[in-house]
Amino acid sequence: MSNMKNYKRNLITAALPYANGPVHIGHLAGVYVPADIYSRYLRLKGEDIVFICGSDEHGVPITIKARQEGVSPQEIVDRYHSMNKDSFERFGIQFDIYHRTSSPTHHKTASEFFRTLYDRGDFIENETEQYFDPEAGQFLADRYITGTCPKCSYDRAYGDQCEQCGSSLAATDLINPRSTISGSKPVLKKTRHWYLPLDRYEGFLKRWILEENKHWKPNVYGQCKSWLDGGLEARAVTRDLDWGIPVPIEGVEGKVLYVWFDAPIGYISATKDLTDRWEDYWKRQDTRMIHFIGKDNIVFHCIIFPVMLKAEGSYVLPENVPANEFLNLEGDKISTSRNWAVWLHEYLEDFPGKQDVLRYVLCANAPEAKDNDFTWKDFQARNNNELVAILGNFVNRALVLTHKYFKGKVPAAPVCDEYDREVLGSIAGYRERVEDHLDHFRFREALKEAMNLARLGNKHLADTEPWNIYKTDPERVGSILYVSLQICAGLSALIEPFLPFTSRKLAGFLNVDRIAWKDIGKEEGFLAGEHEIATPELLFEKIEDEAIRIQLDKLENSKKINQMEKSPVPAAKGDISYDDFSRMDIRIARILSAERVPKTDKLIQLELDTGLDKRTVVSGIAEHFTPEELPGKQVTILANLQPRTIRGIESHGMVLLAEDASGKLIFVTPDQETGEGSVVL
Ligand SMILES: [Zn+2]
Repeated sequence: MSNMKNYKRNLITAALPYANGPVHIGHLAGVYVPADIYSRYLRLKGEDIVFICGSDEHGVPITIKARQEGVSPQEIVDRYHSMNKDSFERFGIQFDIYHRTSSPTHHKTASEFFRTLYDRGDFIENETEQYFDPEAGQFLADRYITGTCPKCSYDRAYGDQCEQCGSSLAATDLINPRSTISGSKPVLKKTRHWYLPLDRYEGFLKRWILEENKHWKPNVYGQCKSWLDGGLEARAVTRDLDWGIPVPIEGVEGKVLYVWFDAPIGYISATKDLTDRWEDYWKRQDTRMIHFIGKDNIVFHCIIFPVMLKAEGSYVLPENVPANEFLNLEGDKISTSRNWAVWLHEYLEDFPGKQDVLRYVLCANAPEAKDNDFTWKDFQARNNNELVAILGNFVNRALVLTHKYFKGKVPAAPVCDEYDREVLGSIAGYRERVEDHLDHFRFREALKEAMNLARLGNKHLADTEPWNIYKTDPERVGSILYVSLQICAGLSALIEPFLPFTSRKLAGFLNVDRIAWKDIGKEEGFLAGEHEIATPELLFEKIEDEAIRIQLDKLENSKKINQMEKSPVPAAKGDISYDDFSRMDIRIARILSAERVPKTDKLIQLELDTGLDKRTVVSGIAEHFTPEELPGKQVTILANLQPRTIRGIESHGMVLLAEDASGKLIFVTPDQETGEGSVVL
């Protein structure tokens, strides 16, 4: 451990997901997968630990969503709280409690916390002018106001942030502000709020972070340093809103605590509802508190919440805040509003029983030091080339050979040669290296090292080739498989933090309840001679191209819908005279045959019956239709368009098609079958 303090217990928190939508892979990779790995690891080592999470149920986005759907905010948070709680459970994220900030315990805890600071005079009271919607009769907090970003000119920036350029904004910075409730132009009106004077704590923060916490991850330390170098200002901790925790001051109405003041206190409320010993975890200096968060929450967990805790005075401060960077999806930023995401609840439906595959891929590819990309091809490759080919293959060979040669029993009294002893003796080293990586929040390296034990098993089998020597030297084969089975036993424990479902499955194959972490690589071996193992099945199965194609199609579909929403309908064309129109000979024709124009991507050659004649038309529709589906269809053509030669084919006229914003083409056909040659008037 980088910090030499002798800690007696661990308080692990994972960022509270916002209860206005489902959880996606970006959340998982950034926060929940590493937090769960770390918590499982501490539990396996027998440490005293609580792992805390819950839904963040306050704030403006929830009220906006409720308004959009015409339901109450409570309905929104109830829906997503239970959805996310359920998804986490099914995914094997083992929180000790999954709490919620709308709970009475939390309201009481947060109110008391605010009141303690208020009574001591730790807040600054300030009257300022803020935007007010005269039509709706309310102040416009944060996301209730949009306008043009002064930094990048994005025209849908919010009152607290521009999602285009990432700038943190004040509502009064916006150019041409509008209320998202009524669409009207807001007016400035005086209102009173309470501010946490962060600037008074600069000295404390500089000492605590920049000097005492140099072991924090560079991305976290760096962001804190730049906040501190830039100088801190007082931050409002109250809002004019009717959803949240009412400001606990007499005579103050229509105001609630700012969601970022109340949310981190949610960790305390959750611990209170989990255990009577909650004060041991929060108030004894020999507690090690770790916050797992994404990089967008660094300022709240490293600056604002510590200042709140410091001001209150009786709480511990975090020992580390191992925030991750962002995970992108197929080269593009994950976005809820654009539906550019892999949602956990959908993954669990689409890939039943494959929780560990996603856990594996998200850990192996975690955005630990920089933003990273999730692609479905990589997901498939890591499953097929790593989980199936390395881990699954080794375990399967070891167990199948044991059944084949030793009736499914661990070979007794093995005569290990020097190579075998060397392999057995090295197993404990894998555990030690995994521990060292996890102690320093290097999850990718830790997982790689755990997989290296399976690689060792494969190498040992490949080097010794038991299948070639059984006939001549069955005793030697007994020793080889004894070694393989001890590696399997070690693996079943070593992969537990990362792949808990697989770990349990493997323990079942080995016919043991569970292998203790400390027993990984123990000298006398874990599985005794004559111990009977179960009949193995496959640990992992290959993921076929079809399953990947379905996921890519889903994303492609989101992209199309986004484009349609974004691209405006093409501008109107100038007026034409009736005479211009009447010169166009538009008719109904029937497609007789269709074939692709060779060596082109887009062109199809159509033979048409126009009623007047049979003719050839070349049409750029090959990316939208196959030649086979076209014959027999009635279409509309502009029959008197000047003939043109396209790729050596003379085309007489043009088939009319409608094109939507995504570029999709649709034939303009008569509403019911009609005679060829019917004229369009
Ligand atoms: Zn901007």
